[in-house]
Amino acid sequence: MFYFDNFGEKKILRSDLLQEPNAFFTTRDEFDLAVLGSRVISPNQTHSSNVEIVDKRIEYPNTDGLILTNQNDAVFLRFADCTPLIFYDTKKKIGAVSHAGWRGTAAKIGPKTIEKMESNPRDIIALIGPAISVCCYEVGEDVKEKLLDTVKSKDGLYNGMNVDLKLINARQLEEIGVNKIDICPYCTSCNNDFFYSYRKENGTRNRHLAVLKL
Ligand SMILES: [Zn+2]
Repeated sequence: MFYFDNFGEKKILRSDLLQEPNAFFTTRDEFDLAVLGSRVISPNQTHSSNVEIVDKRIEYPNTDGLILTNQNDAVFLRFADCTPLIFYDTKKKIGAVSHAGWRGTAAKIGPKTIEKMESNPRDIIALIGPAISVCCYEVGEDVKEKLLDTVKSKDGLYNGMNVDLKLINARQLEEIGVNKIDICPYCTSCNNDFFYSYRKENGTRNRHLAVLKL
């Protein structure tokens, strides 16, 4: 279950499914990543399904998933409506953050991230963070088809031309064997007072973050 918490003075969102390590989503409350006290890595997101493992490099161009295997770095990705995914492998003690907008979701970036982690899906805890929800996310026929084509069971994943990106991501993960998934109930558009929404705010450049530090 997701709940609001404070990190220092700042309001953040976390899940009781993943208390260890530091895995959370920021809000409109501007968060200073320096408080994490580590090197902070963020990729140049392009709505791709490219996933990289964090190493000595500082820059990760054209990358929408970062895998973290060390305790010295922190990673974060930026969001305003797109679906943030945080993964943690409880056996290997490694994690990842991925960016699943419709393009990333259509390219199955969630399963692709777990594959690149070389994790057993049974060992994975998955958090599906705040994103635009089925209430507010209307798409065209082509996008709807591309999204629904990624899963075998399409029950409950759409309502007319509105699609549920969070549930489609969850279904993709369930279909490869992930069974510990927490899905954030908040819609970034309906809950625009807490989160940024690209659609609601007419293309805002502001972003909330999904953050992971082992
Ligand atoms: Zn909504």
